[in-house]
Formats: sequence, C-alpha cells, structure tokens
Amino acid sequence: MNDFIPDNPYILLTPGPLSTSKGVRGAMLRDWCTWDADYNVGIVQDIRRRLAGLAAASPEDYTVALMQGSGSFAVEACLGSAVPRQGKLLIIRNGAYGERMCQMARVLGVRHVEYATAETEAPEPRRVAEILDGDPAVTHVAMVHCETTTGILNPLEGVAKAVKSRGKTLIIDAMSSFGGIPFDAGALGIDFLISSANKCVQGVPGFAFVIAKRAAMAACEGNARSLCLDLHDQWREMDGSGKWRYTSPTHVTRAFFQALDELEAEGGVAARHARYQENHRTLVEGMRGLGFRTLLADALQSPIITSFLYPRPDFDFGAFYDAVKERGFVLYPGKISQADTFRIGSIGEVYPGDMRRLLAAVRDVSEA
Ligand SMILES: *Cc1c(COP(=O)(O)O)cnc(C)c1O
Repeated sequence: MNDFIPDNPYILLTPGPLSTSKGVRGAMLRDWCTWDADYNVGIVQDIRRRLAGLAAASPEDYTVALMQGSGSFAVEACLGSAVPRQGKLLIIRNGAYGERMCQMARVLGVRHVEYATAETEAPEPRRVAEILDGDPAVTHVAMVHCETTTGILNPLEGVAKAVKSRGKTLIIDAMSSFGGIPFDAGALGIDFLISSANKCVQGVPGFAFVIAKRAAMAACEGNARSLCLDLHDQWREMDGSGKWRYTSPTHVTRAFFQALDELEAEGGVAARHARYQENHRTLVEGMRGLGFRTLLADALQSPIITSFLYPRPDFDFGAFYDAVKERGFVLYPGKISQADTFRIGSIGEVYPGDMRRLLAAVRDVSEA
C-alpha cells in the first residue's frame, strides 16, 4: 500500500506537525463509523489504554481523555476543568507555552500567580517550594516539561517533589516530551499530563490528550468554564463508550493508532529517546563545526529541539531558510525576546542520516 503514498517533498525539522511515516499517513486512507465497536473499542479505547501504559509504570492509576483540537485545546481544557472556582493556580513559566497558560488562566478567570524565569534559565524547585509555603491558597501547579520555545528541559523531578510533598495538584504540559523522553508519571506524582497526537508519538495533528490520575479526573466534575472544553464531560462519555462528544477526528485517530504501533516496534519510548538524542548530538556537533552556537548551555538542553544563535548580526534567516528548504529541510524560526535565534527539531520520522544530509545542505548554503 505504501507505494501509493507520496514521499514528502521535504523533512519537517519542526516540533509539530512533524514528518510522519508512510505507514501513519497511509492509515488515514479509509473511513470509519463512529458508533461501531471497531472504532470505539478497537481503536479509541485501545489508544487510551496504551497511552496510560506509556505514561506510568502503574497504568491502572491513570485514565485518559482524548480532546479534539491542537495541543493548546487540551491545555485549556485541563486548566479550566482541574482548578475549581475557589482554587488557585501557580504557573511556572520560562517561554511561550508557559506564557500561553497564563493567558488561558486570564481568559478563563482562573485565579493564579506566576513564577517566571528568563527563557534561557530553568525554574528552581527550591523557589517553587518557597512560593508554595508563602501562599497556602495555591492548590494547583502547572509547568511545561520541555519548553519548545528554546528547547530547555525543565526540572520535572525537583518541581514534582516540591509540589507533591506539599499535597498540591500537579499539571504538566509534556506536549513536546511525552513519548520521546522517558519518565514515570506515577513515580513523580503527576496528576495531569498533557500531550498531543503530532509530537513525539509521531501522529498527525487533530487531537490532544490528558492522562490523569483517576481521582484527579473525577474531581474535575462541574469545574469547567467551557462546554466544549469540559475535560470531565469528555472523559466520562469516552470512558463509558469510547465515544467522543461531538465529531471524532476518525482518520487522525486511526493514524495515531498506527503511530503507537510504530513506537512499540521501534522499541518504545527508551529507543525513541535514544534516536532523538543521536539526532540531536549529530546536529549540534555538526552545526558547531560549521560555526554555529547553541542558545542554551548543554546541561539545560533537551534532545527535542535546539535553538541556534544567528552567526552574524546581519544574518539573513529568511534567505537561509529558503535555501535550506530548497534542499529538502524545513527549519523553524526562533521565538525568544533576548536573542536572534532559529530552531531545528530532532523529532519525528527523522534519523541521524537525515541530520548528516541537513548538515551538508547547511554547509552548501553557508559557502554559497
Ligand atoms: C506544541 C506545544 C503545545 C501546543 O501547541 P499547539 O500549537 O496548540 O499544538 C503546547 N506546549 C508545548 C510545550 C508545545 O511544544
């Protein structure tokens, strides 16, 4: 069947949508009926079960809600449903996605405080503990795991310890790390874990998901500030029947099911992580050899996406982007306030050999 599926004209070195396999794209070539068991039980419930298994060593403690839309829809559904009217949310932010959570809290009217650090600095667990001790009204804490803005990997373990040892509810936006960086949500005590179809599981865009402790999900009842983004209502319907409230993204869901099969065939999250690390290592070593510098210190860097500083003040990123794209690779513009950067992702259906071909293209363009 794969012979009928066209090759991509270029590789997406972006953090979602990303390059997907022919198997994933091919899985979308048929229609599904949303009230039959083939779909609801065979695909939707199976996906929910497997996601809980990827998230935690004790998956029976967790339950899963799939939500139509891009990743932000699930983040907004989670913040708006998890934090009750009398609750208070601490948002840890050091990039655009943390900032987006603050925007959501403002729009939804969720009472909140912010702990901000520079985009090139990780938040400190000790500071999180101080804030919680100084403000006992805080009930929930939200943080981005891998801040895709820069590629920084925030200190999940330390922050989780500070939050959970104080009995607060922990919400993690693991959008760009889940499936690509191994961690055990159960051991960390994560209450809500959010990711989407088009990141490290390597599906196509169209839905996102929240993996939550059963008790935490049950406690969301009646909290939602929105009908469509009511996480509890979505979960209750889906948990019973495998049905989505409102139209289900059937093709995208079927493609995601295939992407989960391919993740398993690759050897699971540990093997995928090793590939992403090798992609990242090949990329950074090669780019440094070509005179580029990374924005972040190596100790803060994730293997998901890497920010590079413009090599010269008069660097024409637009021309560079076009020339590299012509050679088959799509890069990602920068997104930070303190420095001129561009980004290159290492995730998706991308291998170290692709990175070596990219480096040859960058050399070619730089010498032109
Ligand atoms: C991709 C991403 C999101 C969601 O972005 P959407 O454009 O809504 O899919 C949220 N947080 C992080 C860290 C991300 O990388």
